[in-house]
Amino acid sequence: MDPKQQRVDTAFDRDHIWHPYTSMIRPLPVYPVVSARGVWLELEDGRRLIDGMSSWWCAVHGYNHPVLNRALREQSERMAHVMFGGLTHAPAVELARRLVAMTPEGLDRVFFCDSGSVAVEVAVKMALQYMHARGEGGRNRIATIRGGYHGDTWHAMSVCDPVGGMHSLYTGRLPIQFFAPRPSVRFGGEWDEADFAPMAALLEEHRDRIAAVILEPVVQGAGGMWFYHPDYLRRLREKCSELGMLLIADEIATGFGRTGRMFASEWAGITPDILCVGKAITGGYMSFAAVLATGGVADTISSGDPAEFMHGPTFMGNPLACAVANASLELLAEHPPLERIAQIEQGLRRGLAPASGLPGVADVRVLGAIGVVEMRRPVEMASMQRRFVERGVWVRPFGRLVYVMPPYIITDDELARLTSALVDVVSAESGSEG
Ligand SMILES: *Cc1c(COP(=O)(O)O)cnc(C)c1O
Repeated sequence: MDPKQQRVDTAFDRDHIWHPYTSMIRPLPVYPVVSARGVWLELEDGRRLIDGMSSWWCAVHGYNHPVLNRALREQSERMAHVMFGGLTHAPAVELARRLVAMTPEGLDRVFFCDSGSVAVEVAVKMALQYMHARGEGGRNRIATIRGGYHGDTWHAMSVCDPVGGMHSLYTGRLPIQFFAPRPSVRFGGEWDEADFAPMAALLEEHRDRIAAVILEPVVQGAGGMWFYHPDYLRRLREKCSELGMLLIADEIATGFGRTGRMFASEWAGITPDILCVGKAITGGYMSFAAVLATGGVADTISSGDPAEFMHGPTFMGNPLACAVANASLELLAEHPPLERIAQIEQGLRRGLAPASGLPGVADVRVLGAIGVVEMRRPVEMASMQRRFVERGVWVRPFGRLVYVMPPYIITDDELARLTSALVDVVSAESGSEG
């Protein structure tokens, strides 16, 4: 054990610290982790786990990466942070340049912010301010599809799936938005125009009230791990343009290669009016996000009254975050990940195939470096997670979904260990259901 290693006081943790989506009276167990390297998490008791989650879509290059470490160290010796109001710096300019170059054509105005949820708030504010500037302030609602996840802040939550996002808790307080059904034609399935009809009807009916449509392109993440047909997005792009609404693509989970394209919007060949990126942008080193907009959106907002876009977080453009993001994007440029992601996709298909015959399993689906086993019934998270830890892998199921999206640097051997652990644990669960 590393002599500098600090003991983790799990008792204090349990009594005083909230973890994501947990009760303070009956918290789910937490595992003390002391270090991480490559795809491996090391627990305090010395056990090592293959991380199947990339720390929630983030750690695409794995942990403790020398290039990212160096970028952070060097930037910290120049300046860790300066305010972005009235000041600027090379890491921010370089990052904006990279993002503009790599995202779909036409998105060339960049707003930096703190996290994915804040990026969604910023995108929604842009859409509302855009309509205000056009003298169409009555168009102040947002439309989306069911089954989405866009974050936990107020407007972001209002466009999450109304059931999964627990809208009932905040009835009467959350802004009322418009929901179309979740697209039903799968990715890789045969496109059916009828799939888009409910959204088309919704947008037409409420055209005077809707400012924008927000959705996760092609892959819905935390709301249900659902992969839908890119033609849905193509139709949506056409419809939004026809009705003068903005299209906001939330690529916070899907961005930077995860679905097998650098951005999931590319599966449909579309440019959204506004694009949110986050999560993997810093290679998983720290919280950071960006919102890109077209010149048309930015210029319309800026010719309104007020002419200023009204948002400016304290840590906007944080130099440490920009520096590590630049290093992460440079790694993606130097070692283009899409070929490896295609191999990971094959490995996931092969490795998860045995799960599809199990009685407790409803569906197995894979796209890019994302593998999903959907169970027939909700799983018990704590006990299943314990079985994964016993098998030497880190997987955090939720609801009926057991899924992995490993770091791109995972080897074939590590991937095979991850999928075989997943299949074993799922088979045991499947059997125990009777
Ligand atoms: C995680 C996520 C968010 C929220 O990002 P945070 O950084 O957790 O605030 C928003 N949208 C999507 C699609 C996400 O996956």
